[in-house]
Amino acid sequence: MDAIKPEISAHNRRPAGRSLRPPTPPLWQSYYHVAYTLLICLSGLLLTLRFLSAPRPAELLIVPIGILGANFIEYGVHRWPMHHGYRGLHALFRLHMVHHHYFYEDTYWIQGFRDFAMIVFPPVVLNVVCFGVTPLFAAGLAWVFNLNVALAFYATVFGYYLLMQLIHVLCHLDTDNKILALPGLRFLWRHHNIHHTKPIMAIANFNFIIPIADFVFGTAVTRTPADTNRAPMHQGLMSPSAAGSAKN
Ligand SMILES: [Zn+2]
Ligand SMILES: [Zn+2]
Repeated sequence: MDAIKPEISAHNRRPAGRSLRPPTPPLWQSYYHVAYTLLICLSGLLLTLRFLSAPRPAELLIVPIGILGANFIEYGVHRWPMHHGYRGLHALFRLHMVHHHYFYEDTYWIQGFRDFAMIVFPPVVLNVVCFGVTPLFAAGLAWVFNLNVALAFYATVFGYYLLMQLIHVLCHLDTDNKILALPGLRFLWRHHNIHHTKPIMAIANFNFIIPIADFVFGTAVTRTPADTNRAPMHQGLMSPSAAGSAKN
């Protein structure tokens, strides 16, 4: 007879003999990822804001546009290259699968600072985003509009990236951590926790920050099959459930 599944708690770990969990990284790696991310993002933010020159409201429209664009890019990169191996992007897939195997359903919680290296993206990702891709967009914006718009866009990217890493860390905190009482955090924690469950990870809850793109693409899921004994409940503009209710 099958044993009754125990409630998931911070201390339930997969039995060591069956664990596929990658080894815990050395402590220096967590310091390296965290320090590099903080250094580049904060100094980038300060520098770009320092050189902004009396921006007009119309120029600052690039901030919400940039946030929205970043939300869809974050979603797209996570949904496809990070969960499906595409030629030329296998490094992203491997990196993310290590994250999912490290923080499996029953090993979801951060146990110590060493685990941060498995959450905060390695410096190479930040380098590609901030020094590879963003300068191209910023140069285009400076050419079409002006330097202020380009700088505000750059600041948005640095800020978004930093916030994404921070929220991802918070989403792996223990369930009863007091920080999760901050407004909205419990929702984001649950959103990401569901993404880490086995039947869900490749099909839903791909946003790390506010799940705008998840909602638009109908991949925002609020319950796991284990919660309901039914198929996952989708929510969103293009979700199967929304399409079904439209027909009724
Ligand atoms: Zn995660
Ligand atoms: Zn994932």
